[in-house]
Amino acid sequence: MPRLVMKFGGTSVADVERIRNVARHVKREVEAGQEVAVVVSAMAGKTDELVAWCKEAGSHFDNAEYDAIVASGEHVTAGLLALVLKDIGLEARSWQGWQIPLTTDDAHGSARISGIDGSRLIEGLKQGEIAVVAGFQGLHKPTNRVTTLGRGGSDTSAVALSAAIHADRCDIYTDVDGVYTTDPRVVPKARRLNRVSFEEMLEMASLGAKVLQVRSVEVAMLHKVKLCVRSSFDDPARPKPGTLICDEEDIVEQQVVTGIAFSRDEAQITLREVADKPGVAAAIFVPLAEANINVDMIIQVVSDDTTTTDITFTVAAAEFDRAKLILEERREKIGYSKLNGAEDVVKISAIGIGMRSHSGVAARAFKALAEKGINIRAITTSEIKFSMLIDEPYTELAVRTLHTLYGLDAKG
Ligand code: ADP
Ligand code: ASP
Ligand code: MG
Repeated sequence: MPRLVMKFGGTSVADVERIRNVARHVKREVEAGQEVAVVVSAMAGKTDELVAWCKEAGSHFDNAEYDAIVASGEHVTAGLLALVLKDIGLEARSWQGWQIPLTTDDAHGSARISGIDGSRLIEGLKQGEIAVVAGFQGLHKPTNRVTTLGRGGSDTSAVALSAAIHADRCDIYTDVDGVYTTDPRVVPKARRLNRVSFEEMLEMASLGAKVLQVRSVEVAMLHKVKLCVRSSFDDPARPKPGTLICDEEDIVEQQVVTGIAFSRDEAQITLREVADKPGVAAAIFVPLAEANINVDMIIQVVSDDTTTTDITFTVAAAEFDRAKLILEERREKIGYSKLNGAEDVVKISAIGIGMRSHSGVAARAFKALAEKGINIRAITTSEIKFSMLIDEPYTELAVRTLHTLYGLDAKG
């Protein structure tokens, strides 16, 4: 029998009425002769609420208790969907991460899946019982503690589960009907893609398109999971196919640029008048690396006097204060005159496998943004993408400009 994993995100399970709607989608697939495992997120806004409660409750942050608390959102929706499925005459039961078990490492708050024992789930599926799995949560076996997979982690639960139970397909149901050329909430002219390659999806997700968690795309790539993004708001009787994430060879219509992504989760640090001598870059970046702070864009400006230089780089906004502290503590050792920081910056990126074979793609963007009076603070490029750091208030203008420039606007 064909086997399917269906994942429903927060807005799709936001209340009991929406959960009933989810049940209709599940029923359709069961009636079409599929064995179905469903992965659910917490109700929309629930995880944010739980995170806020954690902050309110304890001045001393405890990662393991954080996970015990935030995993509860998915716990509830899994039970509710199982109830609703039974209500419409289907056989179903809920599964918590630890019951499967889905095991992880002990990196509480952003744990990585280490294994999934699909055997008990498969037993149930074979007997016609729908498995309703709480996404986002896992178990660290040695300590016997609940873990969570990082924000957006239910996507990864679904893809990893698909690999573990050898599902024929994994459908990610969300509040948009597929992957778009950019966030359709920001650019109304964004166009839905019928297909997008794993490589491009990975870049889009890493660079800010939160429609899929980055790790879910990595796991799908690694285990060759057939992955679709579709809408739970489609009529359950007439669903649209959505977007298929597939191998590069399976893309028929290739564009130079496939999508534009943006991330507001950036902060910029500039160290002024750093001595221009060997070992300075190491003095700055080694302590940051040792503190697990990921540095993204780096630019070094050679100053006129040739004895000093300015170094600018970006870190995730969440790491900004920690990074500043580390550098301020080492001010004498590094030897800089001033540290400037900015959090009101955004990283805009263009992604496309066509960039491998076309030159001058980024140069066109620099010119287009200059014509709109948008200043570019930093640039990085790699094989299939380039990114630019700009001031936050220009986000929408820059995204729309690039979207039009690369011919991505929907017609009409
Ligand atoms: P869920 O709760 O279902 O997991 P998310 O909010 O995590 O949903 O992801 C869906 C959202 O991703 C959409 O509502 C959309 O605003 C946003 N998004 C950002 N970039 C894109 C893109 N390129 N294509 C589609 N959606 C995108
Ligand atoms: N509920 C979790 C979150 O909001 C996981 C998910 O929805 O994928 O991040
Ligand atoms: Mg999500």
